[in-house]
Amino acid sequence: MAREISVIAIDGPVAAGKTVVGRELARALGFGYLDTGIMYRAITWLALNHGITVDDETSLGELARSYPLGLMGEDCNQVLVDGHTLGPELRDSTVDRNVSIISKAPMVRRELVAQQRTTAAQGKIVMIGRDIGTVVLPDADLKVYLTASPEKRAQRRWQEMQDRGEAVELLTVLSETIARDEIDSGRDDSPLKPADDAWELNTDGLDIQQVVQKIVDRTISPK
Ligand code: C5P
Repeated sequence: MAREISVIAIDGPVAAGKTVVGRELARALGFGYLDTGIMYRAITWLALNHGITVDDETSLGELARSYPLGLMGEDCNQVLVDGHTLGPELRDSTVDRNVSIISKAPMVRRELVAQQRTTAAQGKIVMIGRDIGTVVLPDADLKVYLTASPEKRAQRRWQEMQDRGEAVELLTVLSETIARDEIDSGRDDSPLKPADDAWELNTDGLDIQQVVQKIVDRTISPK
């Protein structure tokens, strides 16, 4: 008999569609949802706000330890930290440009991973990030690694930025996307990579609902 799916890990590079797919999947299954990227973004926003330099790992770790993050809002898309409720500012381009460097710090990761595991302990959750299947939840019932071509991913990011009114060149977005992936996959602690038992799903040519349906099908008959 197929075992019941309760914990789903979704990882993948920048703009592979994880956020929207994860959110829609959680809705379809009636599960909770946690986008761990916003936690790294919140620490980045806080570090910039406190004037901490991005390579000062000790101060960054201290910051993450001193300011536990409160996840709020529909789909946990807001972070309450240090008296601030952060939402759209977590997607600012200054945060985008610094988040991968700050996310390299092992002390920051240790604090955030502990919070993520506490959230997952309740079960029935879709958690998305870079290291969920490999490090945070190695025993997840289903691990999905979403990919798409760099051009397709940059196009998505560019469109999101256009929608927010940010004027930026597509080529700039492409090079920033590739640069962020390189830092995320090249770091020593918890690099971005598919878990050995992850199911790799390329989303090129698929719309959100098709991707969600493929994953739902997989929860019904896991391979
Ligand atoms: O997914 P998102 O683009 O919001 O993630 C922002 C950054 O946070 C990633 O580029 C990565 O550097 C970091 N991150 C991470 N581990 C996670 C989630 C995000 O290192 N589990």
